[in-house]
Amino acid sequence: MPFAVILGASELLSGSERNSYIVIPGVILVVAALVRQITLLDENHQLLKIVRGLAFSDPLTGLANRTLFSQRLAETMQPTPAARGPVAVLLLDVDDFKLVNDSLGHAAGDELLRIVGSRIAQNVGIHDTVARFGGDEFAILIRDTPDAAARIADLIVDAFDEPLVVDGRRLHARISLGLATASGPQDSGITADELLRRADLAMYSAKRAASGRVRAYESTMRHEHTDLHLSGQLRVGRRSGLAARTQLLDELRCAIDEQSLELVYQPKVSLSTNEVVGVEALLRWPHPRFGTLEPGDFLPLVRENDLIDHVTNLVLPMAVADAAGWYATGLTIPVAVNLSTPSLNDELLPDRVAAVLAEHGLSPEALTIEITEDVLLASVVRARSVLDQLRDRGVRVAIDDFGSGFATMKYLRDLPVDELKIDRQFVTPMLDDGRCAMIVRSIIELAEALDIASVAEGVEDAGTAVMLRHFGCDVVQGHYFSAPVPAASIRPGVWGTTPSGRDTVEGRIRAIEDRDDGLQHIDIAGR
Ligand code: C2E
Ligand code: CA
Ligand code: CA
Repeated sequence: MPFAVILGASELLSGSERNSYIVIPGVILVVAALVRQITLLDENHQLLKIVRGLAFSDPLTGLANRTLFSQRLAETMQPTPAARGPVAVLLLDVDDFKLVNDSLGHAAGDELLRIVGSRIAQNVGIHDTVARFGGDEFAILIRDTPDAAARIADLIVDAFDEPLVVDGRRLHARISLGLATASGPQDSGITADELLRRADLAMYSAKRAASGRVRAYESTMRHEHTDLHLSGQLRVGRRSGLAARTQLLDELRCAIDEQSLELVYQPKVSLSTNEVVGVEALLRWPHPRFGTLEPGDFLPLVRENDLIDHVTNLVLPMAVADAAGWYATGLTIPVAVNLSTPSLNDELLPDRVAAVLAEHGLSPEALTIEITEDVLLASVVRARSVLDQLRDRGVRVAIDDFGSGFATMKYLRDLPVDELKIDRQFVTPMLDDGRCAMIVRSIIELAEALDIASVAEGVEDAGTAVMLRHFGCDVVQGHYFSAPVPAASIRPGVWGTTPSGRDTVEGRIRAIEDRDDGLQHIDIAGR
């Protein structure tokens, strides 16, 4: 084309009129071709930008993707340690996201993720990078001090106090956040991978913790992690060890099929009669390679793979059979079973429960169903009908972990309940934390006003038990009285294991009786 332009120009300059008839349209053609060429170039440029954008952004949320995040993190960690400023990585994941997907559908799940993404983005600085790693996992890169990063983490957590509107429904998303930082020269050996791994360990620790949604990395988490071999596998499996995860899931399915999951029982002690008034059935998985696993280690896997119904079908008859056994020997100890969605959405549950009770000849009054707040709002109406039917038959209903979430007041308003279990995150620190003591006291008073029995969980010492009695709490449960024990250990008078391994439940009750006389020596916070 440049050759054509030069030729055309020289012809034009030669001045021949005949030539101008040929040359002018030629030049127009050439200019048009040039314009077209430039437009194409621009289009290509735009396309390139889009393609580049696709390669670096998450199509669902429009945030950065893992590739861009890793690139930026690597750039930040690149300079010599002396030249490197402080850097922090926050990893965040939405608790029980699968429940939303399952109960409201994938479109709602996507909408939730978009809202979560934009809430995070609204609470970080303009120079911070927010990325979605996939699924419900988000990461934030902050080039600032550990304190500044911790403040951002708190802001993000606070941002989720407000409900989200998904598909026209108000939902509360709970998140877990792990924070890892590298700031001073002492951290100069930390690589980008190591920082991510630390944030991952911290997030996992936040997920396991009963209280607090943010955890900053601590070196002990590594041990926690190694100790919990399975947890390690679960986490590793999530990213890389698909084979390990698949094997674990296989093993879990086998354990359910072969009914090799087990129950242990923790006593509930009445503070007015000083008697054991029931036990709570808690699930354990005796794993051939990893030893006995607790629910926190494998319930996520159960939920993610829609196995919770199978677990309920296993747990319920086991607990009822054990309780029937105690009743047969004259030990009248009612049993409480934990149920979560989707079991509570199952209209057939009341009939199933009735059938199991009838089969073992246990009276419905001897069974309590504990419901946790992962029953999504969307299912409250159905849950109500299921719980109504259970109560009509004489089964007791308890709201579990009261105070740990957001929707529990609503459940208290909407669901028929007999018992309120106060979350242990408020109970355990009561003696040292006046605000916790006040909260517990208020919940006890609220329960009393509603004519609902109050049960405090996580009682770890005599002082707490005495304070709870003083506040008017009906029933207590916790390691101070006994850790969960196998069914066979439940015998009149002698059962229970305390940290010393010597005392019995009865011994512990006597001990708080003695302490009660000395109540004035205990500083009752919030009095
Ligand atoms: P949860 O229903 O709140 O059960 C009480 C948990 O607190 C148990 O943990 C118990 O071992 C622990 N605990 C008891 N006393 C103390 C104490 O003094 N201090 C502290 N720090 N902890 C104490 P576990 O057995 O690990 O169970 C964890 C959760 O798993 C349960 O919380 C419950 O939500 C769920 N879960 C357990 N068994 C089942 C089941 O059969 N089905 C379902 N769906 N969920 C279950
Ligand atoms: Ca419970
Ligand atoms: Ca609980």
